[in-house]
Amino acid sequence: MQRKILTIVLGLGLLTCACRQSSNAGKSETQNDTLKYDNAIAPQFNSDSAYAYVKQQVDFGTRVPGSAGHKKCEKYIVDELNRHGADTVILQSAEVTAFNGDSLPITNILAQFNRENNYRVLLAAHYDTRPWADNESSDENRRRPILGANDGASGVGVLLEVARLLAEYTPQIGVDLLFVDAEDYGDASGWDRKDDTWCLGTQYWVGNMPYNQENKPAFGIVLDMVGGLDARFHREYYSNKHARSLVDKVWAAGANAGFADKFINEVGGSLVDDHVFINEAGIPCIDIVECNNAITRSFPPTWHTLNDDMSSIDKRSLLAAGQTVLNVLYGERNFR
Ligand SMILES: [Zn+2]
Repeated sequence: MQRKILTIVLGLGLLTCACRQSSNAGKSETQNDTLKYDNAIAPQFNSDSAYAYVKQQVDFGTRVPGSAGHKKCEKYIVDELNRHGADTVILQSAEVTAFNGDSLPITNILAQFNRENNYRVLLAAHYDTRPWADNESSDENRRRPILGANDGASGVGVLLEVARLLAEYTPQIGVDLLFVDAEDYGDASGWDRKDDTWCLGTQYWVGNMPYNQENKPAFGIVLDMVGGLDARFHREYYSNKHARSLVDKVWAAGANAGFADKFINEVGGSLVDDHVFINEAGIPCIDIVECNNAITRSFPPTWHTLNDDMSSIDKRSLLAAGQTVLNVLYGERNFR
């Protein structure tokens, strides 16, 4: 994803948004739901299992659309979802054109649990990895693809562990797990906005969503770079702007699950990621992402470097993200 510079003007916009929200109580499904979850009813997230899912993806090598590693990873995700007993696994394949003219064969993967339940929640993560290590210092290394242990595999690893638990412990709601492609093939050059060069898989998906008005997800949560060493998840600007009550709910769930040190109640940055396009499609959606690292004040130090490998993965970070989304899922009731 691409980082944006948070300006004072944007900060003022946030305040306006926060004020407006309080007059809207009871309107949206995600409003004032902080009392609706119960830690006791959610199964326990297993971070060893999630870690193994991350490692398996990294063992496939780099996972750039069209590559052998990508194909293996796609098949692995589909096989795991079927093995875990998803009601349906929908593959959405297409050919999209990247900003540089590259033609990319992409496949989005959607697994549905409790398919008949019209009250649905969407979780999403990208499984492709970036073809260029932009943040390396040498030209030669900048042209090499990254392994994406954190940037790619971590969100998918958490979602696959969630899938395993969904099969074992039936939630009271419908759950959709979306594995999107070609998030990270965007144009990082220069300072002007090139938002739509990123998240190509999600942009295709929102144009071809398999929903009607009745079964469209009530809200969505994107997980990206959730496995970094000592990761902290600040409130992301666009999430706060477009789905603030949902951020409130998820961050409260994080604190209640024992991770107040990780779910930081401050805006940490703003970025274009899959949640932005899902929001635009009318599904309130937020991003759990490390965007205010203690060292870089931005993304983790391994971001878009050749060091984004298993040595940058922290089981407690995976656990914090995973247990929090589980607590949200299992605390939801069908109140549509
Ligand atoms: Zn990335």
